[in-house]
Amino acid sequence: MAGIYLHIPFCRQACYYCNFHFVTSPRHKNELLAALLKELELRREYLGDSTVETIYFGGGTPSLLETQELRSQVEQIRSVYPLSDNPEITLETNPDDINGEKLAAWKELGINRLSIGVQSFFEEDLQWMNRAHNASQAFESVQMALQYFDNITIDLIYGTPLLSNEKWEQNVSTATRLNIPHLSCYALTVEPKTPLQKMIHQGKLQDVNPDKQSEQFLLLMQWLKDAGYEHYEISNFARPGFRSRHNSAYWQGKKYLGIGPSAHSFDGKSRQWNIANNIQYTASILQNNIPFEKEVLTATQKTNEYIMTSLRTIEGLDLSRLDDITRGKLQAIAKKYIDAGLMKRNDDFLVLTKEGKLLADGIAAELFS
Ligand code: SF4
Repeated sequence: MAGIYLHIPFCRQACYYCNFHFVTSPRHKNELLAALLKELELRREYLGDSTVETIYFGGGTPSLLETQELRSQVEQIRSVYPLSDNPEITLETNPDDINGEKLAAWKELGINRLSIGVQSFFEEDLQWMNRAHNASQAFESVQMALQYFDNITIDLIYGTPLLSNEKWEQNVSTATRLNIPHLSCYALTVEPKTPLQKMIHQGKLQDVNPDKQSEQFLLLMQWLKDAGYEHYEISNFARPGFRSRHNSAYWQGKKYLGIGPSAHSFDGKSRQWNIANNIQYTASILQNNIPFEKEVLTATQKTNEYIMTSLRTIEGLDLSRLDDITRGKLQAIAKKYIDAGLMKRNDDFLVLTKEGKLLADGIAAELFS
């Protein structure tokens, strides 16, 4: 069982906080899409004989593509890779791309899950982030999408300077009232080399406040628990039956193939990532060369990755999967977190409490081999 990720590196405009690989000019789009088709063909052996259970169009903004462009990619995947009976096929979309015609076309292509980049339902927040959509598009696009798709997730961002707890509550309750079955909620991170970082350094924008972010995360967990969502990964909440199969496979250490500039792949033993440059990527693929760097994981790296990802999930870290020495060390370190109320022991599993989730990365780092 495996997944395929396709990176579509085009966006309408640059959100200030974003550090993904994308360009805002569609100038070389046709050549790049041709290269994606070719990479799908060139890498047909990467997943061995694994069946593909999930396909994810991410970016960038894949909803910018014309239906025919998306269709070619879907058809190429179907013709080159063995798919399971009911694959999950997710399309990342932005509210400004959503209309009835596109929704019907996406459905007809076999897309069965939409991930909508709402971020906030408030105009001032969207402008602060330099999103391409406005507040009414945020709301109306989700309403419209629900007429075509059951399986929808939206992204929301908290911890931004303009977002009071009252506005945060309204954002979350708008989502739950709309009956959106899955939410991905992220604390705003000021990434290096982003326009956001530059503007904060220049004093043009206010910096984020970590205490406010922690407070809004705690509120979020309570509100969504009350609304019947399962907090199945630190940033992800789902109504029963609506967990993301694609992202869950990442966290379970399954294989995935990443196609396109900057896309990452994992074959169970090594990770590799394509060059994050559209022109160089396209030129190299057209000469039948995949432009990538690779890292073979050591046993220690594999264990540390497992600690990091499993602690972020609702199931937690399964001690029985570790060798005796590692398990003994982990149990000794975990004791202080259990005593401090940051972690619980459920049979063989170590699970973070709500307060522990605020410190997940630091706790995982201390547990590393
Ligand atoms: S739309 Fe998404 S990928 Fe594009 S700039 Fe904004 S956050 Fe980044």
